[in-house]
Order: sequence, then structure tokens, then C-alpha cells
Amino acid sequence: MKQFDIKEINEQADIIVVGGGIAGLTAAVAAKEKNPDADVLIVEKQTTGFGGKANKGGGVLQYFDLEHMTPEDFVQYHAHSVGCYLGDQNVMKKYVAMNNEMLDRMDGWGVEIPKKRIPTGPMTYMVGIDLNVTVNMRKTATKLGVRIIDKVTICDFLTNGDTIQGAVGYSIVDGTFYTFKAKAFVLATGSQDYKFAPMWSNGRGDGIAAAYRAGAQLRNVEFGNFSQLYKKNTFQEDVFCDNSMYNALGQNVTKNFRRFPEADVSATALREWYEQMSQGKGPITVHVKMRDEEGLTKIWDRPYGMPFWKADIGKAAGKDPEFEMVPGFVGEMSPIRVNENMETSLKGFYAAGDVSYCGSGAPGAVPAPPGRNRGSGILNAVFAGIVSGENAAEYVKGAADPAIDDAKVKELKDAAYAPIYREEGVLPEEVIGNVQDILCPVENSIYMSESRLNIALKKLAKAKEKVAKLKADDFHQMLYAHEAESMVLCAELFLRASLLRKESRGWFLREDYPMMDNENWLDWIIVTNKNGEMNFDKERVPIETYDVQPPKFN
Ligand SMILES: Cc1cc2nc3c(=O)[nH]c(=O)nc-3n(C[C@H](O)[C@H](O)[C@H](O)COP(=O)(O)OP(=O)(O)OC[C@H]3O[C@@H](n4cnc5c(N)ncnc54)[C@H](O)[C@@H]3O)c2cc1C
Repeated sequence: MKQFDIKEINEQADIIVVGGGIAGLTAAVAAKEKNPDADVLIVEKQTTGFGGKANKGGGVLQYFDLEHMTPEDFVQYHAHSVGCYLGDQNVMKKYVAMNNEMLDRMDGWGVEIPKKRIPTGPMTYMVGIDLNVTVNMRKTATKLGVRIIDKVTICDFLTNGDTIQGAVGYSIVDGTFYTFKAKAFVLATGSQDYKFAPMWSNGRGDGIAAAYRAGAQLRNVEFGNFSQLYKKNTFQEDVFCDNSMYNALGQNVTKNFRRFPEADVSATALREWYEQMSQGKGPITVHVKMRDEEGLTKIWDRPYGMPFWKADIGKAAGKDPEFEMVPGFVGEMSPIRVNENMETSLKGFYAAGDVSYCGSGAPGAVPAPPGRNRGSGILNAVFAGIVSGENAAEYVKGAADPAIDDAKVKELKDAAYAPIYREEGVLPEEVIGNVQDILCPVENSIYMSESRLNIALKKLAKAKEKVAKLKADDFHQMLYAHEAESMVLCAELFLRASLLRKESRGWFLREDYPMMDNENWLDWIIVTNKNGEMNFDKERVPIETYDVQPPKFN
């Protein structure tokens, strides 16, 4: 029998923010600014300011010129062209309306916001920021008195009825067990990316799984998978290359799915790749002048991020005028259901950023981010961070002190540490590999059919059987075991909801149901954990109450 000397620590705060990426840092700073007396604590499983995605190479912020357009104009465009009427138009309007406020506040928090605005698509511009955004935000948070605990992962939440009370977690370094109590929690743990694409791989979905187990509702799980087109044998994507795709016969196949060049990759480009390859007309090459590194350096000045950009991305891009491209799976399930105040279905429990992007309903029929809105990932995290932080700061003023059930804490602790005490079993890497094999192919995650989804579910059932046997050799691997479990859960949510949605809409493509069906499927799929069983409900989108309706609606 393995023996460990597990230390125990109890922590309490008014507001606990789980995850120290851009959404978590924003929530903590906004909460402190709104209510300076509140004790705000960030708990991050890696290192606050250095973990997360906002520092991983992008740095594009979406900009709306609100002097020449209104939030309603953008919602009109978005509902017709991107969200396909499945979006919560009120949340989208609120996001656009806060654009200037967000950029001004980021500026005040130590993020340098250049004045240059570069047009990117209908009604949008981009602003480029450097990759030290979260490091600077961490400094601001610390100055305001936000406390930070790094290298501790939260694995489960504690509730009393439908009110959040606490959480449990452990140090991934030495296994110390933590019990947390707080009046309010902000979940900012990012999306589920199945540990596949390297720079996206911090999205492991364990926050999603913990919230689901605690009873938080999920929405839009079937919009959980995003793929891009990569230069073969690299992770170098080119967002415009789908505008000039050619098959082995020299035919321009972009014409089969697109009438004019678009600013972002669509699921239809990936479907076209799959169909051409299935018909033996591959490989698919793109004929473009590759992005030019020098040009990129001129777009914005990034002294902090440029060495990384050149070493990691620039080299892979090369200068080839023609290259073979293949789909590259990203993931991006972001389903925690929130309303326009970023409140989840549990009282005192808020969710911000990638963890709740699709769950907010705002982007509609796209996986998000980027949701065909480049630059909306970071800004959505800032938007949701401000809204959740400020609302949590108000909520805790009148909330009762949390009380937690010791028996439940022990039960959750035993479950969390089970893999490290197991002498024999399955390593998490094996289960993660199984999930990747099932979800990465385009035909299971982007262009689906009933028969393929059923086969994928059968394979997943085998991976699910291994979850109860997961073993870990150290506390870092124990985290992997929990991440593997969350990947199996998210994959099942995606596959089962995808079987239910019998239509194609936006990014969601079914080979056997190719048309959009507004009569039967202008609905959100809501998932709730009922005594350990996944409960799937359809909820009609309140389209009559929104500004924009589908053509010929009613
Ligand atoms: C390569 C790349 C390029 C991108 N480019 C752009 C761009 O140009 N423009 C744009 O707008 N967006 C871009 N994005 C997306 C954008 O970075 C994200 O949308 C945004 O950073 C999400 O922030 P977040 O705080 O919600 O989540 P994350 O950044 O994922 O942060 C989540 C944090 O929570 C921690 N965590 C997770 N689980 C737990 C747990 N159980 N307990 C404790 N801590 C936990 C993680 O370690 C992480 O630090 C890009 C993303 C990538 C990967």
C-alpha cells in the first residue's frame, strides 16, 4: 500500500477566482476595484500571469468603431452571418457596447493598447497587444491586494442546495490538500482542448467537469470543437488559406463552398477537405503568398513577444508559395451556462472567459473563441471578467457566511486522491490518447453523421471504463488523471448532444442533415447532471424577443 504524508490547509476569502489567465485576472481586479474591502483570492494550477492562453502568440483584440456603427449594427451582421440565429443577442450587444470601456480599463491595468486600428472584416478592426498582457495584469492585481495561490488545482465544488459554498483542491507539487470557503466563486478555468494542439493545450476542461458535477448547467456543448487549416507537419495555421484551396487535379475547390473571400476559416472548408480526400482527389494545397514575418512585425511592436513569435511561429510559416494543408484539431468547448451578468445556474457562482463563451449563448452557432470573430477571445475574457467580478463584488456584500459539510469534503478528497493510491491501473496518457484518436478526425468532430457519432460513442465507452482505473505516480500525474476524466466527460457531452441536433447550422455540420431547420432546431441544448446522469433538454431560443430574426420567420 502506497503511503503519503498529505498536509491539509483551509483557506477562506470573500471571492475566490479559479484560474489566473486573462479572465480570472480581470475578474479579480474588477472585483477589487468595485469593492476594495472584499478579500479576493486567485487559485491557479500553473502560475498566474504565465499560464493561460492570452500570452501564447495571438494578441489580436477586436475593435468596434462605435463612432460610426452601433452595437445593434454588429448584432444584425452577426446573427445573419455568424451566429445563425442561435446567439443571445442581448449578451452580444452588451459585449460590443463595452468595447471602448474595456480597452480603456486594460490600458489602466498596465496593458499597452496601441492607437493603430487595422481593418479585419465587416465592421471590425483589430488592435495588436504584446504577450506580457497577463504578467502586467498580475502586477496590477497584486498592487490592489488580490491574494494569489499558484500550483494548486481546484478539483470539485461544494454547494448547499443550489448555492456555492466552497471547493477542494490540491498542490500539484507536493499533494497538500486544500479546502476553500467563499461567498462567491468566479470560474475562469478556460476551455476544453483535449491537450492536443500545443499552444491551446492548457485547456483541459477540469473546471468544466467540476462545475458540471456540482450542478451548474451547460449550454451549446455540441458547438465544442474548432479546427483550423494547418500547413502539413506543422502547427502553423493560416486563417486566410481556405480562400485558395486546390485539389490534385488543379481544380479550385474553394469555389464549392464559398462565393467570395472570407476573413476566417469555416467548417465548410474542413468539410470540403474531407470530401475531396474521400474522393481520392487529394492532397489539398493552397496557393498563397505566405505571411511575411517582416510585414507582421510592422503591424504592431511587440518587444516582449517577438522572439517567441519568430522562433516558434515564423520558422514554421516559411515562404512557400504553395503548400499542402490539413485540418488541425483545436477543441474549444466552452459550455458553462451564464446569463448576461455571468451568473451560472448556481447562486454565488460566476463563470468568465473561455469556460463560458458558448455557454453565454453570445456567439451562437460557432465554437468559440474565436467563433469567426478573431480577437474576441481575449476581449470576451475581459468583458466577462469585468461583469462577473463586479457582480460577485456586489453579491458578497449581502451573502451569508459559507458553511461546508465535512463528510462531503472527505468524500471528494478520497475520490481525488484515488489514482495516487492505486498500485495497478491505467496511466492517464493512455486515456487522453484514446480521446484524441476519437475526436481529432474531422469526420467525428466537425462533419458528423449518425453512424460515425455512434461508432465514436462506442469507442469512447471503452475509454470511459478506464477512468475508474486511472493511476498516477506523482501529484502532477494525478492532475493528468483528473484532466483525462474531464476529457472523457466533455467528449461524451459533445457526441451525445451532436447526435440530438438533427440539422446543420453555422459551424455544426451533419452529413445526414445538411439543412438549417428553424422550425425544429432554433433551440439550445441544455445539459444538467441529475444524480450522475446526463440530462439533455431542448430550450427554445427567445428569438421573438430579439432584434434580429431569420428571414421569413413566422
Ligand atoms: C495560440 C493562441 C492564439 C490566440 N490568439 C488570440 C488572439 O490573437 N486574439 C484573441 O482575442 N484571442 C486569442 N486566443 C484566445 C485567447 O487567448 C483566449 O480566449 C483567452 O486568453 C482565454 O482566457 P481565459 O482566462 O478565459 O482562459 P485561459 O487563458 O485558458 O486561462 C485559464 C487558466 O485557468 C487555469 N486553470 C484551469 N483549470 C484549473 C483548475 N481546475 N484549478 C485552477 N486553475 C485552473 C489554467 O492553468 C489557466 O491559467 C488565442 C489562443 C491561443 C492558444
